[in-house]
Amino acid sequence: MADLKEMSKEERLERMRHSAAHVMAEAVLEMFPGARIGIGPPIDTGFYYDFELPRALTLDDLPEIEERMRKRIESDVAFEPDLISKDEARVIFHDQPYKLELIDEIPDEKVGLYRQGEFLDLCQGPHVERTGQVPAFKLMSVAGAYWRGSEDRPMLQRVYGALFDTQEELDAYLHAIEEAAKRDHRRLGRELDLFSFHEEYGPGLVYWHPKGGRIRTLIEDFWRDAHFAAGYEIVYTPHIGKSTLWETSGHLNFYAENMYSPMDIDGQDYYAKPMNCPFHIQIYKTGLRSYRDLPIRLGELGTVYRYERSGVLHGLLRVRGFTQDDAHIFCRPDQVRAEIERCVDFMMFFLGAFGFEQFHVYLSTRDEKGKWAGSVEDWDMATGTLRDVIESRDLPYDVDEGGAVFYGPKIDVKMIDALGREWQCTTIQFDFNLPERFDVTYVAEDGAQHRPFMVHRALLGSMERFFGVLIEQYAGAFPLWLAPVQAVVIPIADRHNEYAGEVVGKLRAAGLRAEIDDRNERMQAKIRDAQLQKVPYMLVVGDREAEAGAVAVRLRSGDDLKAVPLPDIIERMKGESEVPSYVAPKTTA
Ligand SMILES: [Zn+2]
Ligand SMILES: [Zn+2]
Repeated sequence: MADLKEMSKEERLERMRHSAAHVMAEAVLEMFPGARIGIGPPIDTGFYYDFELPRALTLDDLPEIEERMRKRIESDVAFEPDLISKDEARVIFHDQPYKLELIDEIPDEKVGLYRQGEFLDLCQGPHVERTGQVPAFKLMSVAGAYWRGSEDRPMLQRVYGALFDTQEELDAYLHAIEEAAKRDHRRLGRELDLFSFHEEYGPGLVYWHPKGGRIRTLIEDFWRDAHFAAGYEIVYTPHIGKSTLWETSGHLNFYAENMYSPMDIDGQDYYAKPMNCPFHIQIYKTGLRSYRDLPIRLGELGTVYRYERSGVLHGLLRVRGFTQDDAHIFCRPDQVRAEIERCVDFMMFFLGAFGFEQFHVYLSTRDEKGKWAGSVEDWDMATGTLRDVIESRDLPYDVDEGGAVFYGPKIDVKMIDALGREWQCTTIQFDFNLPERFDVTYVAEDGAQHRPFMVHRALLGSMERFFGVLIEQYAGAFPLWLAPVQAVVIPIADRHNEYAGEVVGKLRAAGLRAEIDDRNERMQAKIRDAQLQKVPYMLVVGDREAEAGAVAVRLRSGDDLKAVPLPDIIERMKGESEVPSYVAPKTTA
């Protein structure tokens, strides 16, 4: 058998993880004689095994299973492969119906078997040689899993384990999970009073609370200012449109399953919009456009509704109603390159303002075998431009050959957060279909009607999803320019309330978001609460501060700046809360 050290890390981990799954199955069978076992493959971070047990497992059971596994690993028994006939296998697994089902489906004459000690499993391997080679692992969780993933088969109990080469790597992984749990936007959304969902009145629909609403307003204001600076016009369009619009756009044909049932208005079917594009096209078409008018860039914070199965809804990340930061660019062929460059640079500026500096780009190209809209020349030009621009910006990218939808090539950008996770955000997508369907044209220099290039583009993706990612990115501790409350003023005793009120008044007059905490609580408790609410500045005021016109400054990081004159802290906070401003490229193209 091969030496573990000589294998690629991938192969070694796969063997060790799969072997740990067998060891776990043996341990569980020992705890529950008569248990039925399903399958136990390796996965990305470890392994799992599915069981049918006389009772439901809880997290409290995991240490005992781990303990039994460790004994087996210590006793260092060999994994022994075998190849036997199906009939022999049926005898061995006569009391294991799930295994019998698998045996029936194996096309070969003989089936693989692996033995460690008393435990036998139907298995092709490969495994490590001995149980002693199973390294650092930890059982993580128990979850229900349908046998073979089918809802009409029995629900089994799946026990997950994490396994890595070394204890160090395992610890790093466990730490990352803990960090992610601490940053979970659903939990922080509750604790920081940012948003809520009301399942009973419709799942997947977000209620933004005042503090969440404040942050959204700040992001939207930033978005609008930057878009005007970048040469976009901002439009507002209806939330519903008549069936004829969606027939012409083709959505009722190829996108119907994502759309909600129509509502009847004067005997006509109207649909909630799943996309803003057809509306923006109507605005474009209200006038005769000449080559001199292009490019036209129409942006909208457009709220759309799309059907998602309830099983895939997930906090703010997957919802049924959301606001896209949408834009459509109509341009001439000779402007395509500059427009794509502007889009990519704008994206990097915009996401950079939220602390995202690293991106991973996915380029989707034409499916040669499928049907597509537009000409091969246009596709090649559009795809080549996307590729050139991401290369010129040194952005790492992968190509999804043939992965583009039928109407045009696109890039999807994932931003990498503080924990190294990738989040889908920006999309820049060519469209050779809608301009055709709606007969979108401009008058070119030759006096004839030509078709403009149309690009769909969203930077953040949607306000909801981006907000969810942002909460996790900052772990709820928003930078000053986004913090819903920038400072809490804390009077030490009742007699300081008046001065505290004055301080709040001055902060607000300077455009800062400040509140007073005049509850009948001890100062330490107020500081702790403000810290839990991740308020950046805590300004404590007592006799000395009131006399000196100062505040005692505590930061949410725990730093204590002692007494600072009020005008100084206002100056400092104003500097820190400046909104990043976009400077458009000098060209007028
Ligand atoms: Zn196996
Ligand atoms: Zn669009």
